Amino acid sequence: MAPLANTLTLVPGGTRGIGLATAKLFARQGSRVVILGRDLDRIHHVLDKELGPISPSTSPALNHIGLQCDVSKQEQVDLTIKELSKVAPIDFLIHSAGIARDALLMAHKAEDIESVIATNLMGTIWINKAVAKGMMRRKKGAIINISSVVGIQGNMGQTVYSASKSAIIGFSKSLSKELGSRGVTVNVIAPGYIDTDMTSSITEVRKQEIMAKTSLGRLGQPEDVAEAALFLAQAKFITGQVLVVDGGLSL
Ligand code: NDP
Repeated sequence: MAPLANTLTLVPGGTRGIGLATAKLFARQGSRVVILGRDLDRIHHVLDKELGPISPSTSPALNHIGLQCDVSKQEQVDLTIKELSKVAPIDFLIHSAGIARDALLMAHKAEDIESVIATNLMGTIWINKAVAKGMMRRKKGAIINISSVVGIQGNMGQTVYSASKSAIIGFSKSLSKELGSRGVTVNVIAPGYIDTDMTSSITEVRKQEIMAKTSLGRLGQPEDVAEAALFLAQAKFITGQVLVVDGGLSL
């Protein structure tokens, strides 16, 4: 039987980049996957072309699920998780929804600052709050929130993004203490530079500079982060930790 057969994995931000690679990896391991995003066309594309049907040998007659949900809106998150709870309990949450709006603080527009905090930080809080309830009740579950190495060491032009990502670490460590006695683990992945839509506007020269700073001499791929998420999802005695996945960039 597939390792994750008869499990449900929720991936907010599962329509692109790191979240999509994670959704695909968990699906290949036999898990039924639920992806959340704001773009309905993209959700349909991923369900039809990227995830495909669930392996009949693991979960016959079930399909993966895609739902439109803006994680920065608490009402939408609560409604989505309530509807999902009628389908099946959530075993794994890999929270990958996030945005970057980079600017030096003095030039940072108020609306961009608010969007970054509302999506990256408040989105993480709303999703974790809604999902943790069911996991506590079942005394079972693993939560993995996606932060960034920028949340650990900071980066010029990313003050607010960095603040949102640092906050995810403090939030997750604290939540791991609240949920530990209920058998629920909460961990964080801090990726370095990963080749996704989010980083597509970075110039080739800058990419070469970043690559040169990694010990492994290459940029990260979304699948590198997905592998780490799969490891943490199955790790029974690891909680409150931050796993840096950056090829040595931050050393
Ligand atoms: P992408 O831009 O490729 O994907 C972001 C995903 O988040 C999309 O599925 C997007 O869907 C979803 N999303 C964004 N805003 C919302 C929202 N308000 N509600 C619901 N879904 C939303 O980014 P990455 O895959 O690169 O990034 C994933 C996570 O990893 C982010 O948290 C990012 O900060 C973090 N990270 C990325 C790094 C990198 O180098 N790429 C490095 C370190 C951390 P839609 O737009 O349709 O809503």
